[in-house]
Amino acid sequence: MTFNDLGLNKLLLKAIKDQGYENPTPIQEQAIPVILKRKDILAGAQTGTGKTAGFTLPMLELLLRSKDDHKGKRHIKALILAPTRELAAQVEESIRLYAKHTDYRSTVIFGGVKINPQLVALRKGVDIVVATPGRLLDHISQKSIDLSHVNFLILDEADRMLDMGFVNDIKKVMAVLPSQRQTLLFSATYSDAIKQISNKFLKSPTLIEVARTNASNEIVEQAIYHVDKARKRELLTHLIKEGDWKQVLVFTRTKHGANRLSGQLETDGISSAAIHGNKSQNARTKSLADFKAGKIKVLVATDIAARGIDIDQLPHVVNFELPNVSEDYVHRIGRTGRAGNKGEAISLVCVDEDEFLAGIEKLIKKDIPKVWLKGFKPDPSIKAEPINMGGNRGARNKPRGGGSRNGGGGNRNGGGRNGGGGRR
Ligand code: AMP
Repeated sequence: MTFNDLGLNKLLLKAIKDQGYENPTPIQEQAIPVILKRKDILAGAQTGTGKTAGFTLPMLELLLRSKDDHKGKRHIKALILAPTRELAAQVEESIRLYAKHTDYRSTVIFGGVKINPQLVALRKGVDIVVATPGRLLDHISQKSIDLSHVNFLILDEADRMLDMGFVNDIKKVMAVLPSQRQTLLFSATYSDAIKQISNKFLKSPTLIEVARTNASNEIVEQAIYHVDKARKRELLTHLIKEGDWKQVLVFTRTKHGANRLSGQLETDGISSAAIHGNKSQNARTKSLADFKAGKIKVLVATDIAARGIDIDQLPHVVNFELPNVSEDYVHRIGRTGRAGNKGEAISLVCVDEDEFLAGIEKLIKKDIPKVWLKGFKPDPSIKAEPINMGGNRGARNKPRGGGSRNGGGGNRNGGGRNGGGGRR
């Protein structure tokens, strides 16, 4: 199937061509025709599958088909809710790309930055708004946004929004939207909470599911490097220098760990920055821009901060520490090997993390190749110790549907799992 077969307007086909896309991805093939029939959908698709274009293109197509020619005042007709600032910003960036030959306007709304520029953008008039739920509610309560013309709603990464405790915020937003609308829900997992939201807010949705390990993940080469905890940083520096890596996204479990590692890499002569929830939005935006532009080699990130980061042709992802939630592993490695590019995902695993590794391999249903690098072999006399989870995952303490949380049965890592912290 080609994009032409999907019946998209030539203004959109031109933008698709500008992006260099040749064919629709599976989620695009399945979702676009259904959305164009104005049906609700419940789609199981992860980042990396091309889902953003999967909902943005038909959304723009429906706008183009509507008779609205923006004469007079512009009204917000489409609203996209996303869990994090980064994802919201990237979705809006994608909308701009796909809408660039049309005259539809979009804006993004999220917390952690001044509200004034958002007020100005809203006052000028936009057709499409991408927002995180909290800041959107601020606008709703101070009546700076008019959602009464919204007839297209997308809940992107709905499972993440629920994990982050946004369920009531979402319900409050829903309450002010017109009931006559098309609703699309995208989620990587189907928990009971997702089913409830879907039952409440979607009208006879069409179910769309693309393979759990998306096409792009299949060209991610994965490897486990067994190493002692105290030597992980030395090994990472070695890999970056020996491999002459130019751009690597490194995941740590805690914000503190991200800061410390970034500082240590700088000491090793490797340019680096850390992004996590304690950094200001401006600092995060700058670090991401520097990383994308190749000004810094290493971006050290926590899971939530990295969520949705979309970097074309990111060649290397390193798990400096394995995530305690197995699904995060899939999300992390989905940052590389995207849309046909080859990627490498390396995990540095010490003896403390054996249970996490077992949980991940169970989830992805395969054994990841193991490497014991000469000079870095683990010292067999070192015994496993409990893992300190830090405080940055406090909003995600409840096990998710599917029972994929690691270490659930054992108590070795139990002590720190409920470390406080709040949502970002
Ligand atoms: P997403 O899952 O929306 O985060 O998209 C993942 C990546 O795939 C993004 O970098 C998109 O630019 C890219 N992409 C989306 N659709 C296509 C397509 N049909 N062909 C090639 N790349 C695509």
